[in-house]
Amino acid sequence: MRRRQGLLLIADGLGDRPIPSLAGRTPLEAAATPNMDFFAARGMCGNVHPYRPGIPVGTDVGHLLIFGLDPDRVYPGRGPLEAYSAGVAMEPGDIAFRGNFATVDASLKVLDRRAGRIAERTGELASAIDGATLGGTLVLAKPLTQHRVAIVFRGRGLSPEVSPTDPGAAGLPLSVCRPRDEAAARTAALVNGFTALCRERLEEHPVNLERRAAGKPPANMVLLRGCGRTGEVTPITRQFDIRCACVAGDLTVLGIARLAGLETFHDPAFSGGTRSDLAGKARQAVACVRQGFDWTVVHVKGPDLCGHDGNPSDKIRVIEEIDAMFGQFRHELDLQRMIVSLTADHSTPCEKGDHSGDPVPTFVSGPTVRRDGIAEVGESAFRAGSLSGLSATDIFRIQLDQLDLMPKRGA
Ligand SMILES: [Zn+2]
Repeated sequence: MRRRQGLLLIADGLGDRPIPSLAGRTPLEAAATPNMDFFAARGMCGNVHPYRPGIPVGTDVGHLLIFGLDPDRVYPGRGPLEAYSAGVAMEPGDIAFRGNFATVDASLKVLDRRAGRIAERTGELASAIDGATLGGTLVLAKPLTQHRVAIVFRGRGLSPEVSPTDPGAAGLPLSVCRPRDEAAARTAALVNGFTALCRERLEEHPVNLERRAAGKPPANMVLLRGCGRTGEVTPITRQFDIRCACVAGDLTVLGIARLAGLETFHDPAFSGGTRSDLAGKARQAVACVRQGFDWTVVHVKGPDLCGHDGNPSDKIRVIEEIDAMFGQFRHELDLQRMIVSLTADHSTPCEKGDHSGDPVPTFVSGPTVRRDGIAEVGESAFRAGSLSGLSATDIFRIQLDQLDLMPKRGA
């Protein structure tokens, strides 16, 4: 085992703006956070740009950056990200789509792009398609949350340069897939074959017979969009020869973590939104550290959901629960050999109800880390910290350097 180990907590959407009902404080500043304050005082702090100043990012791009990957080089598109989220290990040459279970009529007019927001038994419907072959190409279909399904084509000579079959709105006919260049002609034909396959296997599927009998729209089609292929992504675990763990419940985060080479740890109790089992997540993170992982990342979705809901008091409650996780780290780990950090993938201010380009509160703490002398966490207090103005990529490197894992440049 190495001399030191890293533990990073990602509080999704943590950053916020001053809120009048909190006397101009942010939820992080208004929350009681004795444990986060303890760690912040033992290290460097600051407001960190997830990507570039003023550019809001999605959870996918935010996490690529936190994991040390460059989204301008490796961003594989939504289709492959959904495939990773569904647990498919993409192979070189695979192409992947975002799929929706939808309702179409006999003329393939789309009646409902989400099949009445179907949420049950989509695994059975996906199984009806999963493993099928189209002209020697294998089709993988893995259910995601609600009406979403990841579709992967595996075979020779596939191209991602094809148009979607999802017309984008109900009332329109399902789109015929067209190639965007000559090399994609065969792939487009396969996609249109996939539409026929869905028709054949889903129309009379027992799940759909039951849905019709219950007056619900059948999920008798899969609409495809967002086709992409993963580039040559070198997992960070191979790049730095390290073992990394990710404890999360959110499928997007788990997908990005797999793409980056992290081993994933999840449990149904971890995906409870603002009522997720945070103490259980902290216990799993502590277990990963004890198992010897060089870098363990634990993700909490709650702050982002509260920001989207525009609910500062809920955000404060979730932040205080996150503080209790830091309490578990403080009392259960040997802090003499730990680099403990906090960051976020982006800000989700309650006032905006969406992601913003504001930099995110971040600290990197440990016995070997220089101290900024900042005694409490908060966007205002962190403005004076040594990490302010840096990027998520910088924070990734700083953590690895603290773990003695960053190769030297030069002799
Ligand atoms: Zn996010």
